[in-house]
Amino acid sequence: MVFLSVLHIRNYIGGHFRDPHSAEWLDVENPATAQRYALVARSTRADVDEAVQAAQQAFPSWSTLSAKERSDVLLAVAAKIREHADELARAESDDNGKTLRQSSTVDIPRAEANMAFFATEILHSETATHQTDVHTLNYTTRSPIGVVGCISPWNLPLYLFTWKIAPALAAGNCVVAKPSELTPFTAFLFSKLCADAGLPPGVLNVVHGLGSECGQAIIEHPDVKAISFTGGTATGRTIASIAAPQFKKLSLELGGKNASIVFADAPIAETARKVARAAFTNQGEICLCGSRILVERSIYTPFVEALVAETNKFTVGDPLEESTRMGALVSKAHMEKVLSYIELAKTEGGTVLAGGSRVRVEGRCSDGYFVAPTLIDGLTEHCRVNQEEIFGPVATVIPFDTEDQAIAMANSTPYGLAASVWTDQLQRAHRVAHRLESGIVWINCWLVRDLRTPFGGVKQSGVGREGGTEALRFFTEAKNICVWL
Ligand code: NAD
Repeated sequence: MVFLSVLHIRNYIGGHFRDPHSAEWLDVENPATAQRYALVARSTRADVDEAVQAAQQAFPSWSTLSAKERSDVLLAVAAKIREHADELARAESDDNGKTLRQSSTVDIPRAEANMAFFATEILHSETATHQTDVHTLNYTTRSPIGVVGCISPWNLPLYLFTWKIAPALAAGNCVVAKPSELTPFTAFLFSKLCADAGLPPGVLNVVHGLGSECGQAIIEHPDVKAISFTGGTATGRTIASIAAPQFKKLSLELGGKNASIVFADAPIAETARKVARAAFTNQGEICLCGSRILVERSIYTPFVEALVAETNKFTVGDPLEESTRMGALVSKAHMEKVLSYIELAKTEGGTVLAGGSRVRVEGRCSDGYFVAPTLIDGLTEHCRVNQEEIFGPVATVIPFDTEDQAIAMANSTPYGLAASVWTDQLQRAHRVAHRLESGIVWINCWLVRDLRTPFGGVKQSGVGREGGTEALRFFTEAKNICVWL
Protein backbone atom coordinates (compact mmCIF):
# COMPACT_ATOMS: atom_id res chain seq x y z
CA MET A 1 0.00 0.00 0.00
CA VAL A 2 1.28 3.48 -0.85
CA PHE A 3 0.73 6.28 1.66
CA LEU A 4 0.83 9.73 0.17
CA SER A 5 1.99 12.13 2.85
CA VAL A 6 0.47 15.59 2.95
CA LEU A 7 2.84 18.54 2.95
CA HIS A 8 3.21 19.86 6.52
CA ILE A 9 4.04 23.57 6.74
CA ARG A 10 6.07 23.77 9.95
CA ASN A 11 7.27 26.62 12.06
CA TYR A 12 10.83 27.81 11.57
CA ILE A 13 12.28 28.65 15.00
CA GLY A 14 15.92 29.04 15.96
CA GLY A 15 17.03 27.62 12.61
CA HIS A 16 14.92 24.42 12.97
CA PHE A 17 11.62 23.30 11.49
CA ARG A 18 9.27 22.43 14.33
CA ASP A 19 5.79 21.05 14.82
CA PRO A 20 3.40 23.21 16.84
CA HIS A 21 3.04 22.55 20.58
CA SER A 22 -0.70 22.12 20.08
CA ALA A 23 0.00 19.20 17.68
CA GLU A 24 -2.88 20.69 15.68
CA TRP A 25 -2.82 21.57 12.00
CA LEU A 26 -5.03 23.70 9.78
CA ASP A 27 -6.05 22.80 6.23
CA VAL A 28 -4.48 24.76 3.41
CA GLU A 29 -6.54 24.84 0.25
CA ASN A 30 -5.81 25.69 -3.36
CA PRO A 31 -8.70 28.11 -4.00
CA ALA A 32 -8.62 27.46 -7.74
CA THR A 33 -9.44 23.78 -7.25
CA ALA A 34 -11.04 23.91 -3.79
CA GLN A 35 -8.75 21.00 -2.84
CA ARG A 36 -6.71 20.78 0.35
CA TYR A 37 -3.07 20.34 -0.55
CA ALA A 38 -1.21 20.99 2.73
CA LEU A 39 -1.53 21.35 6.47
CA VAL A 40 -0.17 24.32 8.34
CA ALA A 41 0.91 24.48 11.98
CA ARG A 42 -1.71 25.84 14.37
CA SER A 43 0.71 27.63 16.65
CA THR A 44 -0.11 29.08 20.03
CA ARG A 45 1.56 31.17 22.71
CA ALA A 46 4.07 28.40 23.54
CA ASP A 47 5.45 28.45 19.97
CA VAL A 48 5.59 32.24 19.97
CA ASP A 49 7.45 32.20 23.30
CA GLU A 50 10.06 29.89 21.80
CA ALA A 51 10.38 32.03 18.70
CA VAL A 52 10.86 35.18 20.79
CA GLN A 53 13.49 33.41 22.89
CA ALA A 54 15.37 32.27 19.77
CA ALA A 55 15.24 35.83 18.41
CA GLN A 56 16.52 37.27 21.69
CA GLN A 57 19.45 34.85 21.65
CA ALA A 58 20.35 35.76 18.08
CA PHE A 59 20.05 39.51 18.58
CA PRO A 60 23.42 40.37 20.20
CA SER A 61 25.48 38.93 17.37
CA TRP A 62 23.18 39.88 14.45
CA SER A 63 22.77 43.47 15.62
CA THR A 64 26.51 43.99 15.99
CA LEU A 65 27.51 42.69 12.58
CA SER A 66 28.65 45.45 10.27
CA ALA A 67 26.08 46.75 7.78
CA LYS A 68 28.16 45.18 5.02
CA GLU A 69 28.05 41.75 6.71
CA ARG A 70 24.27 41.90 7.14
CA SER A 71 23.93 43.17 3.60
CA ASP A 72 25.89 40.21 2.22
CA VAL A 73 23.62 37.68 3.96
CA LEU A 74 20.44 39.43 2.79
CA LEU A 75 21.75 39.64 -0.77
CA ALA A 76 22.40 35.90 -0.60
CA VAL A 77 18.73 35.46 0.41
CA ALA A 78 17.68 37.60 -2.58
CA ALA A 79 19.82 35.41 -4.85
CA LYS A 80 18.14 32.29 -3.47
CA ILE A 81 14.72 33.77 -4.30
CA ARG A 82 15.91 34.38 -7.86
CA GLU A 83 17.29 30.85 -8.12
CA HIS A 84 13.98 29.34 -6.91
CA ALA A 85 11.69 31.84 -8.62
CA ASP A 86 9.71 29.28 -10.63
CA GLU A 87 9.00 27.08 -7.62
CA LEU A 88 7.97 30.09 -5.52
CA ALA A 89 5.74 31.49 -8.26
CA ARG A 90 3.92 28.19 -8.63
CA ALA A 91 3.54 27.88 -4.84
CA GLU A 92 2.11 31.40 -4.64
CA SER A 93 -0.40 30.70 -7.37
CA ASP A 94 -1.49 27.40 -5.81
CA ASP A 95 -1.83 28.96 -2.37
CA ASN A 96 -3.62 32.18 -3.29
CA GLY A 97 -5.44 31.43 -6.56
CA LYS A 98 -3.68 34.25 -8.42
CA THR A 99 -2.47 33.69 -11.95
CA LEU A 100 0.95 32.18 -12.44
CA ARG A 101 1.60 35.11 -14.73
CA GLN A 102 1.02 37.54 -11.84
CA SER A 103 3.10 35.59 -9.32
CA SER A 104 5.99 35.04 -11.74
CA THR A 105 6.12 38.59 -13.10
CA VAL A 106 5.13 40.61 -10.02
CA ASP A 107 5.04 38.81 -6.65
CA ILE A 108 8.27 36.83 -6.71
CA PRO A 109 10.46 39.38 -8.53
CA ARG A 110 9.25 41.97 -6.03
CA ALA A 111 10.09 39.71 -3.07
CA GLU A 112 13.62 39.42 -4.44
CA ALA A 113 13.75 43.19 -4.99
CA ASN A 114 12.60 43.87 -1.42
CA MET A 115 15.47 41.81 0.00
CA ALA A 116 18.06 43.34 -2.34
CA PHE A 117 16.77 46.88 -1.85
CA PHE A 118 17.04 46.93 1.95
CA ALA A 119 20.27 44.91 1.86
CA THR A 120 21.85 47.78 -0.06
CA GLU A 121 19.87 50.65 1.46
CA ILE A 122 21.73 50.14 4.76
CA LEU A 123 25.04 50.70 2.97
CA HIS A 124 23.99 54.20 1.93
CA SER A 125 22.01 55.54 4.86
CA GLU A 126 23.09 58.51 6.95
CA THR A 127 22.19 60.10 10.27
CA ALA A 128 21.92 63.78 11.17
CA THR A 129 24.29 66.13 12.98
CA HIS A 130 23.07 69.44 14.40
CA GLN A 131 25.61 72.04 15.40
CA THR A 132 23.77 74.31 17.85
CA ASP A 133 26.58 76.86 18.25
CA VAL A 134 30.32 76.87 18.50
CA HIS A 135 30.23 74.92 21.79
CA THR A 136 27.51 72.41 21.10
CA LEU A 137 27.24 69.56 18.65
CA ASN A 138 24.37 67.08 18.52
CA TYR A 139 24.58 63.86 16.59
CA THR A 140 21.93 61.19 16.11
CA THR A 141 22.51 57.48 16.23
CA ARG A 142 20.01 54.87 15.09
CA SER A 143 20.02 51.44 16.76
CA PRO A 144 17.99 48.31 16.11
CA ILE A 145 15.06 47.83 18.46
CA GLY A 146 15.52 44.15 19.38
CA VAL A 147 12.86 41.55 18.66
CA VAL A 148 10.13 42.78 16.33
CA GLY A 149 6.91 41.19 15.07
CA CYS A 150 5.86 41.21 11.40
CA ILE A 151 2.36 40.09 10.45
CA SER A 152 1.25 39.96 6.83
CA PRO A 153 -1.93 39.25 4.81
CA TRP A 154 -2.83 36.78 2.05
CA ASN A 155 -3.19 38.97 -1.03
CA LEU A 156 0.49 39.41 -1.94
CA PRO A 157 1.93 36.80 0.39
CA LEU A 158 5.70 36.71 -0.13
CA TYR A 159 5.79 40.24 -1.57
CA LEU A 160 4.38 41.77 1.64
CA PHE A 161 6.11 39.31 3.99
CA THR A 162 9.52 40.35 2.62
CA TRP A 163 8.51 44.03 2.45
CA LYS A 164 8.41 43.96 6.26
CA ILE A 165 11.12 41.56 7.26
CA ALA A 166 13.77 42.89 4.85
CA PRO A 167 14.05 46.34 6.51
CA ALA A 168 13.64 44.81 9.99
CA LEU A 169 16.55 42.43 9.43
CA ALA A 170 18.67 44.92 7.52
CA ALA A 171 18.42 47.37 10.41
CA GLY A 172 19.78 44.69 12.76
CA ASN A 173 16.62 43.40 14.44
CA CYS A 174 15.60 39.79 14.92
CA VAL A 175 12.13 38.92 13.70
CA VAL A 176 9.17 36.80 14.69
CA ALA A 177 6.97 36.74 11.60
CA LYS A 178 3.54 35.34 10.86
CA PRO A 179 2.17 35.03 7.33
CA SER A 180 -1.55 34.62 6.72
CA GLU A 181 -2.90 31.19 7.62
CA LEU A 182 -4.60 31.19 4.20
CA THR A 183 -1.34 31.53 2.27
CA PRO A 184 1.57 30.19 4.34
CA PHE A 185 3.40 28.22 1.64
CA THR A 186 5.90 30.72 0.24
CA ALA A 187 6.89 31.97 3.72
CA PHE A 188 7.67 28.32 4.56
CA LEU A 189 9.77 27.90 1.39
CA PHE A 190 11.38 31.25 2.12
CA SER A 191 12.49 30.13 5.59
CA LYS A 192 14.30 27.20 3.96
CA LEU A 193 15.98 29.57 1.52
CA CYS A 194 17.10 31.82 4.39
CA ALA A 195 18.73 28.84 6.10
CA ASP A 196 20.46 27.86 2.83
CA ALA A 197 21.64 31.42 2.30
CA GLY A 198 23.39 31.47 5.69
CA LEU A 199 21.01 33.62 7.72
CA PRO A 200 22.04 32.74 11.29
CA PRO A 201 19.56 30.68 13.36
CA GLY A 202 17.07 32.74 15.34
CA VAL A 203 17.48 35.91 13.26
CA LEU A 204 14.22 35.15 11.41
CA ASN A 205 11.59 32.95 13.03
CA VAL A 206 8.39 32.11 11.19
CA VAL A 207 5.39 30.95 13.20
CA HIS A 208 2.22 29.87 11.46
CA GLY A 209 -1.36 29.85 12.65
CA LEU A 210 -4.52 31.80 13.24
CA GLY A 211 -4.48 35.54 13.80
CA SER A 212 -6.53 35.35 16.98
CA GLU A 213 -4.14 32.78 18.51
CA CYS A 214 -0.63 32.94 17.10
CA GLY A 215 -0.85 36.50 15.75
CA GLN A 216 -2.27 37.89 18.94
CA ALA A 217 0.39 36.09 21.02
CA ILE A 218 3.04 37.98 19.03
CA ILE A 219 1.30 41.31 19.63
CA GLU A 220 0.88 40.61 23.35
CA HIS A 221 4.40 39.32 24.00
CA PRO A 222 6.18 41.82 26.26
CA ASP A 223 9.56 41.22 24.60
CA VAL A 224 8.33 42.04 21.10
CA LYS A 225 9.14 45.72 20.99
CA ALA A 226 7.66 46.76 17.66
CA ILE A 227 4.87 45.48 15.44
CA SER A 228 4.64 45.92 11.71
CA PHE A 229 1.21 44.80 10.54
CA THR A 230 -0.51 44.73 7.16
CA GLY A 231 -4.11 43.60 6.97
CA GLY A 232 -7.67 44.70 7.51
CA THR A 233 -8.70 47.87 9.34
CA ALA A 234 -10.74 45.97 11.97
CA THR A 235 -7.73 43.77 12.79
CA GLY A 236 -5.51 46.85 12.91
CA ARG A 237 -7.85 48.38 15.48
CA THR A 238 -7.63 45.26 17.69
CA ILE A 239 -3.85 45.19 17.38
CA ALA A 240 -3.53 48.88 18.24
CA SER A 241 -5.71 48.39 21.34
CA ILE A 242 -3.31 45.70 22.60
CA ALA A 243 0.00 47.21 21.54
CA ALA A 244 -0.60 50.87 22.42
CA PRO A 245 -0.96 50.43 26.21
CA GLN A 246 2.39 48.59 26.13
CA PHE A 247 3.92 51.53 24.22
CA LYS A 248 5.11 49.32 21.39
CA LYS A 249 6.16 50.93 18.16
CA LEU A 250 3.40 50.28 15.68
CA SER A 251 3.18 50.41 11.89
CA LEU A 252 -0.28 49.67 10.48
CA GLU A 253 -0.95 49.24 6.76
CA LEU A 254 -4.71 48.74 6.49
CA GLY A 255 -7.59 48.72 4.04
CA GLY A 256 -8.47 51.04 1.20
CA LYS A 257 -11.38 52.21 -0.95
CA ASN A 258 -9.43 53.98 -3.61
CA ALA A 259 -10.73 56.35 -6.27
CA SER A 260 -9.61 56.56 -9.90
CA ILE A 261 -10.58 60.07 -11.07
CA VAL A 262 -10.96 60.42 -14.83
CA PHE A 263 -11.23 63.93 -16.31
CA ALA A 264 -12.71 64.61 -19.73
CA ASP A 265 -9.33 65.49 -21.26
CA ALA A 266 -7.86 62.05 -20.56
CA PRO A 267 -7.53 59.86 -23.69
CA ILE A 268 -10.52 57.53 -23.43
CA ALA A 269 -9.28 54.20 -24.80
CA GLU A 270 -5.89 54.24 -23.09
CA THR A 271 -7.29 55.48 -19.77
CA ALA A 272 -10.08 52.89 -19.76
CA ARG A 273 -7.46 50.16 -20.24
CA LYS A 274 -5.29 51.44 -17.40
CA VAL A 275 -8.18 52.14 -15.02
CA ALA A 276 -9.51 48.59 -15.63
CA ARG A 277 -6.05 47.26 -14.78
CA ALA A 278 -6.11 49.34 -11.57
CA ALA A 279 -9.48 47.84 -10.65
CA PHE A 280 -8.98 44.18 -11.51
CA THR A 281 -5.31 43.25 -11.21
CA ASN A 282 -4.82 40.30 -8.85
CA GLN A 283 -8.63 39.77 -8.81
CA GLY A 284 -8.98 43.24 -7.28
CA GLU A 285 -7.25 41.85 -4.19
CA ILE A 286 -4.69 44.61 -3.80
CA CYS A 287 -5.18 47.27 -1.16
CA LEU A 288 -4.25 49.84 -3.85
CA CYS A 289 -6.84 48.78 -6.43
CA GLY A 290 -9.02 51.62 -7.71
CA SER A 291 -12.50 50.29 -6.94
CA ARG A 292 -14.39 53.60 -7.30
CA ILE A 293 -14.07 55.02 -10.80
CA LEU A 294 -15.18 58.65 -10.94
CA VAL A 295 -15.71 59.93 -14.47
CA GLU A 296 -16.40 63.48 -15.70
CA ARG A 297 -19.95 63.52 -17.00
CA SER A 298 -19.17 64.85 -20.49
CA ILE A 299 -17.29 61.63 -21.38
CA TYR A 300 -19.25 59.30 -19.11
CA THR A 301 -21.04 57.29 -21.80
CA PRO A 302 -18.11 56.61 -24.16
CA PHE A 303 -15.72 56.07 -21.26
CA VAL A 304 -17.98 53.56 -19.54
CA GLU A 305 -18.47 51.71 -22.86
CA ALA A 306 -14.70 51.43 -23.24
CA LEU A 307 -14.36 50.39 -19.60
CA VAL A 308 -16.93 47.59 -19.97
CA ALA A 309 -14.99 46.29 -22.99
CA GLU A 310 -11.72 46.38 -21.02
CA THR A 311 -13.35 44.71 -18.00
CA ASN A 312 -14.54 41.84 -20.16
CA LYS A 313 -10.97 41.25 -21.35
CA PHE A 314 -10.04 40.00 -17.86
CA THR A 315 -10.51 36.37 -18.84
CA VAL A 316 -11.33 34.24 -15.81
CA GLY A 317 -9.77 30.78 -15.84
CA ASP A 318 -7.25 28.28 -14.56
CA PRO A 319 -4.50 30.38 -12.94
CA LEU A 320 -1.84 28.21 -14.56
CA GLU A 321 -3.03 28.95 -18.12
CA GLU A 322 -1.05 31.60 -19.96
CA SER A 323 -4.25 33.17 -21.36
CA THR A 324 -5.89 33.65 -17.94
CA ARG A 325 -5.98 37.22 -16.67
CA MET A 326 -8.06 36.64 -13.57
CA GLY A 327 -7.60 33.73 -11.17
CA ALA A 328 -9.58 32.54 -8.17
CA LEU A 329 -10.42 34.50 -5.05
CA VAL A 330 -8.50 33.40 -1.99
CA SER A 331 -11.23 31.40 -0.23
CA LYS A 332 -14.86 30.34 -0.35
CA ALA A 333 -15.67 32.75 2.49
CA HIS A 334 -14.06 35.64 0.63
CA MET A 335 -15.88 34.73 -2.60
CA GLU A 336 -19.16 34.71 -0.71
CA LYS A 337 -18.37 38.10 0.81
CA VAL A 338 -17.64 39.56 -2.64
CA LEU A 339 -20.83 38.05 -4.13
CA SER A 340 -22.85 39.44 -1.20
CA TYR A 341 -21.61 42.95 -2.06
CA ILE A 342 -22.80 42.48 -5.67
CA GLU A 343 -26.24 41.57 -4.32
CA LEU A 344 -26.11 44.54 -1.96
CA ALA A 345 -25.28 46.81 -4.89
CA LYS A 346 -28.49 45.70 -6.62
CA THR A 347 -30.56 46.49 -3.54
CA GLU A 348 -28.83 49.86 -3.28
CA GLY A 349 -30.01 50.72 -6.80
CA GLY A 350 -26.98 49.65 -8.83
CA THR A 351 -26.98 48.22 -12.35
CA VAL A 352 -24.45 45.52 -13.21
CA LEU A 353 -22.73 46.52 -16.47
CA ALA A 354 -20.28 43.59 -16.61
CA GLY A 355 -19.82 40.34 -14.68
CA GLY A 356 -21.90 40.11 -11.54
CA SER A 357 -21.68 36.42 -10.70
CA ARG A 358 -19.57 33.40 -9.82
CA VAL A 359 -17.78 31.76 -12.77
CA ARG A 360 -17.56 27.99 -13.18
CA VAL A 361 -14.27 27.18 -14.88
CA GLU A 362 -14.05 23.89 -16.75
CA GLY A 363 -11.61 21.11 -15.93
CA ARG A 364 -9.54 20.83 -12.77
CA CYS A 365 -10.83 24.23 -11.53
CA SER A 366 -14.55 23.43 -11.74
CA ASP A 367 -15.04 23.86 -7.97
CA GLY A 368 -12.77 26.92 -7.65
CA TYR A 369 -13.76 30.26 -6.20
CA PHE A 370 -13.96 32.44 -9.31
CA VAL A 371 -15.95 35.65 -9.69
CA ALA A 372 -16.32 37.55 -12.97
CA PRO A 373 -14.80 41.05 -13.13
CA THR A 374 -17.77 43.19 -12.20
CA LEU A 375 -18.60 46.78 -13.02
CA ILE A 376 -21.56 48.52 -11.40
CA ASP A 377 -23.18 51.84 -12.19
CA GLY A 378 -26.04 53.83 -10.68
CA LEU A 379 -24.88 53.97 -7.05
CA THR A 380 -24.40 57.08 -4.93
CA GLU A 381 -21.00 57.73 -3.40
CA HIS A 382 -22.45 57.32 0.10
CA CYS A 383 -23.96 53.84 -0.24
CA ARG A 384 -22.30 50.92 1.54
CA VAL A 385 -20.87 49.44 -1.67
CA ASN A 386 -19.03 52.73 -2.27
CA GLN A 387 -17.93 53.15 1.35
CA GLU A 388 -16.83 49.67 2.46
CA GLU A 389 -13.81 47.75 1.24
CA ILE A 390 -14.83 44.76 -0.89
CA PHE A 391 -11.30 43.66 -1.82
CA GLY A 392 -12.36 41.71 -4.90
CA PRO A 393 -13.05 42.15 -8.62
CA VAL A 394 -15.86 44.67 -8.14
CA ALA A 395 -15.65 48.31 -9.22
CA THR A 396 -18.25 51.04 -9.47
CA VAL A 397 -18.52 53.97 -11.89
CA ILE A 398 -19.88 57.32 -10.79
CA PRO A 399 -20.22 60.53 -12.87
CA PHE A 400 -19.09 63.94 -11.59
CA ASP A 401 -19.51 67.48 -12.92
CA THR A 402 -16.76 69.56 -11.34
CA GLU A 403 -13.27 69.15 -9.96
CA ASP A 404 -14.48 70.05 -6.46
CA GLN A 405 -17.19 67.42 -6.66
CA ALA A 406 -14.72 64.76 -7.78
CA ILE A 407 -12.41 65.57 -4.87
CA ALA A 408 -15.28 65.52 -2.36
CA MET A 409 -16.41 62.12 -3.68
CA ALA A 410 -12.90 60.72 -3.58
CA ASN A 411 -12.46 61.92 0.02
CA SER A 412 -15.88 60.73 1.18
CA THR A 413 -14.83 57.35 2.64
CA PRO A 414 -13.19 56.57 5.99
CA TYR A 415 -10.15 55.30 4.05
CA GLY A 416 -7.21 57.19 2.54
CA LEU A 417 -4.68 54.81 1.05
CA ALA A 418 -4.27 55.51 -2.67
CA ALA A 419 -5.86 57.38 -5.57
CA SER A 420 -5.16 57.92 -9.25
CA VAL A 421 -5.85 61.03 -11.32
CA TRP A 422 -6.21 60.85 -15.10
CA THR A 423 -5.92 64.14 -16.99
CA ASP A 424 -3.84 65.91 -19.62
CA GLN A 425 -3.78 69.15 -17.60
CA LEU A 426 -0.59 69.32 -15.59
CA GLN A 427 -1.73 71.99 -13.13
CA ARG A 428 -5.01 70.29 -12.44
CA ALA A 429 -3.22 66.99 -11.86
CA HIS A 430 -1.01 68.55 -9.17
CA ARG A 431 -3.85 70.57 -7.67
CA VAL A 432 -6.13 67.55 -7.30
CA ALA A 433 -3.31 65.35 -6.00
CA HIS A 434 -2.61 67.85 -3.21
CA ARG A 435 -6.26 67.98 -2.14
CA LEU A 436 -6.83 64.22 -2.00
CA GLU A 437 -6.84 62.66 1.48
CA SER A 438 -4.59 59.82 0.48
CA GLY A 439 -1.12 58.54 1.31
CA ILE A 440 -0.31 57.79 -2.32
CA VAL A 441 -1.50 59.50 -5.52
CA TRP A 442 -0.64 58.31 -9.01
CA ILE A 443 -1.06 60.71 -11.94
CA ASN A 444 -1.77 59.04 -15.28
CA CYS A 445 -0.48 55.73 -13.99
CA TRP A 446 -1.17 53.14 -11.29
CA LEU A 447 1.02 50.92 -9.15
CA VAL A 448 4.26 52.34 -10.47
CA ARG A 449 6.50 51.74 -7.48
CA ASP A 450 9.87 53.10 -6.42
CA LEU A 451 10.91 51.31 -3.23
CA ARG A 452 12.54 54.48 -1.86
CA THR A 453 9.21 56.33 -1.61
CA PRO A 454 7.01 56.50 1.52
CA PHE A 455 4.21 53.95 1.40
CA GLY A 456 1.11 54.01 3.59
CA GLY A 457 -2.26 55.54 4.20
CA VAL A 458 -4.13 58.22 6.12
CA LYS A 459 -7.44 58.05 8.04
CA GLN A 460 -8.48 54.42 8.58
CA SER A 461 -5.96 53.15 6.03
CA GLY A 462 -3.15 53.12 8.52
CA VAL A 463 -0.58 54.66 10.76
CA GLY A 464 3.02 55.23 9.71
CA ARG A 465 4.85 54.66 6.48
CA GLU A 466 6.84 51.81 4.99
CA GLY A 467 9.42 51.99 2.21
CA GLY A 468 12.94 53.34 1.91
CA THR A 469 14.29 55.31 4.84
CA GLU A 470 10.81 55.41 6.46
CA ALA A 471 11.02 51.66 7.03
CA LEU A 472 14.57 51.82 8.40
CA ARG A 473 13.49 54.61 10.73
CA PHE A 474 10.58 52.55 11.98
CA PHE A 475 12.81 49.58 12.75
CA THR A 476 15.40 51.64 14.65
CA GLU A 477 15.43 53.87 17.71
CA ALA A 478 16.97 57.32 17.34
CA LYS A 479 19.21 58.67 20.07
CA ASN A 480 20.49 62.20 20.19
CA ILE A 481 23.95 62.65 21.74
CA CYS A 482 24.83 66.20 22.68
CA VAL A 483 28.51 67.09 23.06
CA TRP A 484 29.86 70.24 24.73
CA LEU A 485 32.93 71.08 22.73
P1 NAD B 1 -6.57 40.29 8.20
O1 NAD B 1 -6.55 41.52 9.00
O2 NAD B 1 -7.68 39.34 8.38
O3 NAD B 1 -5.25 39.42 8.48
C1 NAD B 1 -3.95 39.94 8.26
C2 NAD B 1 -2.98 39.15 9.13
O4 NAD B 1 -3.27 39.43 10.49
C3 NAD B 1 -3.08 37.64 8.99
O5 NAD B 1 -1.78 37.08 9.10
C4 NAD B 1 -3.93 37.25 10.17
O6 NAD B 1 -3.73 35.93 10.61
C5 NAD B 1 -3.44 38.24 11.21
N1 NAD B 1 -4.38 38.50 12.31
C6 NAD B 1 -5.73 38.45 12.30
N2 NAD B 1 -6.23 38.77 13.52
C7 NAD B 1 -5.17 39.05 14.31
C8 NAD B 1 -5.02 39.46 15.67
N3 NAD B 1 -6.08 39.62 16.47
N4 NAD B 1 -3.78 39.66 16.14
C9 NAD B 1 -2.71 39.51 15.35
N5 NAD B 1 -2.77 39.12 14.05
C10 NAD B 1 -3.99 38.89 13.54
O7 NAD B 1 -6.41 40.74 6.70
P2 NAD B 1 -6.44 39.83 5.41
O8 NAD B 1 -7.86 39.43 5.15
O9 NAD B 1 -5.39 38.79 5.50
O10 NAD B 1 -5.96 40.88 4.29
C11 NAD B 1 -6.82 41.72 3.62
C12 NAD B 1 -6.74 43.12 4.17
O11 NAD B 1 -5.40 43.58 4.15
C13 NAD B 1 -7.51 44.12 3.34
O12 NAD B 1 -8.24 44.97 4.19
C14 NAD B 1 -6.44 44.89 2.60
O13 NAD B 1 -6.79 46.20 2.22
C15 NAD B 1 -5.35 44.90 3.62
N6 NAD B 1 -4.07 45.16 2.98
C16 NAD B 1 -3.47 46.38 3.20
C17 NAD B 1 -2.26 46.68 2.58
C18 NAD B 1 -1.58 48.00 2.79
O14 NAD B 1 -0.40 48.10 2.47
N7 NAD B 1 -2.25 49.01 3.33
C19 NAD B 1 -1.67 45.72 1.76
C20 NAD B 1 -2.31 44.51 1.56
C21 NAD B 1 -3.51 44.22 2.19
